[in-house]
Amino acid sequence: MRVERILAPNPGPFTGPGTNTYLLDVGGEVVVIDPGPVESTHRRAIVEAVGDRRTAAVVVTHTHPDHAPLANPLARELGCPTFGYGPGPDFDPDELLTDGAVVAVGDAELVAVHTPGHSEDHLCLRLGEILFTGDHIMGGSSVMVDDVGAYLRSLQRLQEMELSRLYPGHGPEIDRPREVISWYLAHRRQREEEILAAVTSGARTVGQVVEVVYADVDRSLWPLAARSVRAHLRKLAADGEIRYGGEEGWEAPVAPNEARGPAGDSGPRANRGP
Ligand SMILES: [Zn+2]
Repeated sequence: MRVERILAPNPGPFTGPGTNTYLLDVGGEVVVIDPGPVESTHRRAIVEAVGDRRTAAVVVTHTHPDHAPLANPLARELGCPTFGYGPGPDFDPDELLTDGAVVAVGDAELVAVHTPGHSEDHLCLRLGEILFTGDHIMGGSSVMVDDVGAYLRSLQRLQEMELSRLYPGHGPEIDRPREVISWYLAHRRQREEEILAAVTSGARTVGQVVEVVYADVDRSLWPLAARSVRAHLRKLAADGEIRYGGEEGWEAPVAPNEARGPAGDSGPRANRGP
């Protein structure tokens, strides 16, 4: 078993150095994982790297534009089927991969692990102790999350697996999976605490929360941060920690015992803002 990495020429604030396209070779047969954007030099680089090996499949971890659009044209050229959790804007899989479904490569099986959170259609792909993580875990940088609750559950699931190496969709490979997954869990929980604290101290809109929590982050990334903040606010509301007060915006609810506390109780109160 061998893993080769081909870096797509699409660096940027959302893609780091670019998308990692992987060739997984088992006994001279290959699977292409995340071919990336439609880009002719990258397509040539993949086809040349495959050489005269047989390609069993082109698989995508999710249908974002930096991962999936090259899949169908490349698979036609290589003469193999495409696999993914579901169709997307520029992706139409020949075979659907539900959780636990397998793609045969050589005498091995690549197993789909449904990991919603970054996107609803996100898969990680496992072969023994190695895991291709797509954008669920990136090479040490924070991940954009659409559904925080689902993302945390997906991380916890990976934390219970016996893994020795992760191959992320962006950035370098990861040799200490347990530590890195713990970091991601801790990072998400810390963000959640910061966002709850911002609402508790008076931030009412997504924009106001971003200004507080992402004060030290370049403003060009604030629209992206707003998406994560929105996802966190939804989870906090689902957990009953905050509520949406219509025109008043987001607010931290007053706990029932606090609201009905004895009149003489002058214990400390969180600053609830205007
Ligand atoms: Zn990506």
